[in-house]
Amino acid sequence: MKLAAILFSLLVVVLVPLALVIHEVISGLFFEREVEDMRQRVSHYASMYDENGTIATSVLETLTATDQDVYVLDEHFQSNRHVGDNTTAFAGELSPEAREEIRAGGTVERTYTDDATGENYLVVGRALQANEEVTGSLYLLSSQSAIETDIQEIQRLMTLAVVGSFLLAFGCIIVLARRLTLPLVRMEQATRQLAKGELEVRVEQASQDEVGSLGAAINDLARDLKQYRDARRAFLADVSHELRTPVTYMKGYSHILQEKLYDHAEDQEAYLAILSSEAERLNRLVEELFDLAQMDDGHMNVSKQRVAVAPLIQRIVDGFALPVRQQGLELNIDIEEELMVYGDELRLEQVLTNLMTNALRYTETGSISIQAFSNSNRQPVITVTDTGIGIPEEERPFLFDRFYRVDKSRSREGGGTGLGLAIVQQLMHAHDGDIHVSSTPGEGTCFMLIFPSLGKDV
Ligand code: ADP
Repeated sequence: MKLAAILFSLLVVVLVPLALVIHEVISGLFFEREVEDMRQRVSHYASMYDENGTIATSVLETLTATDQDVYVLDEHFQSNRHVGDNTTAFAGELSPEAREEIRAGGTVERTYTDDATGENYLVVGRALQANEEVTGSLYLLSSQSAIETDIQEIQRLMTLAVVGSFLLAFGCIIVLARRLTLPLVRMEQATRQLAKGELEVRVEQASQDEVGSLGAAINDLARDLKQYRDARRAFLADVSHELRTPVTYMKGYSHILQEKLYDHAEDQEAYLAILSSEAERLNRLVEELFDLAQMDDGHMNVSKQRVAVAPLIQRIVDGFALPVRQQGLELNIDIEEELMVYGDELRLEQVLTNLMTNALRYTETGSISIQAFSNSNRQPVITVTDTGIGIPEEERPFLFDRFYRVDKSRSREGGGTGLGLAIVQQLMHAHDGDIHVSSTPGEGTCFMLIFPSLGKDV
């Protein structure tokens, strides 16, 4: 309604002054045309007089229109003849200036009001000359009421046109305003529903214009919000499930220990070991969740600097030497000397530790190899390759999802949380790098870390 009111007032502001101006121009033109017509008639009469030295009354009567009168005055401005019956006495009305003008052989144009009838007339007068001498004058009087009637008729038509166009415009504006505002009202309702959490709501996309693309943007927003909400729900369900498992174990075994529900003293040791490993897993889970939460918020601290790759890998390898040997695996290292990456040393250690832990967890025989080199694009690359169980191709796209595990029981037995690779991927992204995996089930897996190349200034 507001939009319609604004458009309508704009129309009024434009149309009313326009109608007034047109009215003024048309009535001006009418008077101008009438006066011009009278001028021509008067000069015609005057030229006829010039030829004959007189002009017959019958000629004047024939040539003069019904709403016009002709007065012929003598050189003393006394009425000689009067043709027509609209006016009564005109001669006395001529002003001294007008008389002067006529005596000088000129013309007179003025208005005249008949006292008896109150009627207004346009007057065009001219001197009549015989042998260069002014012998009288002739005046054509045209009643203004005829012109006024014409103008009134035009006024009536114009008023009709203006009212008609107002009504038409009003109809159009109402339809237009509805067309414009209806989708906006629908969008407002949809966004309010979205705010209430009804994320399935969608806006009907009626047009291809800006309003239509606003609708499309609202639909995209609703879709993204729904995806986000579903992912968050799934994540929370996963978190509570993952937390519940160790807690259940811990509750159960501590109850057994408390109530001394075991048969042999050695069982006590075993139960205590389970309690400790579950507590350890719980601790790791909470730490990793905290890490991920920080990464999601963008609050993770990554203080990058030039890091020498060889000593970094050596430290990791030293840490894993014992478990690798205990598992009867071989450890191969091939590192390009002087290779540098731009990153956070502690976070890089975390990445490599996670990959090494997985390699160890999912490899029974064979070896684990670490290679570090600069590829053809001068990007530093680190690979961790094992000869373990491998990962089926269909599982690979989900490998970096939180809590995704290919072999759940094996992961649990090895103390896995299902968050390791998700963290590795996030950390690589924080380093503007990437991680790729290639694997052959039953033969082994290779994780490849690619870092951005070090510019000259880094
Ligand atoms: P987890 O803590 O379970 O190891 P990750 O996120 O580190 O969680 O790994 C996700 C899943 O990917 C693992 O559960 C495992 O099934 C699979 N996986 C990771 N690394 C390897 C590997 N080197 N060999 C085989 N499977 C692997």
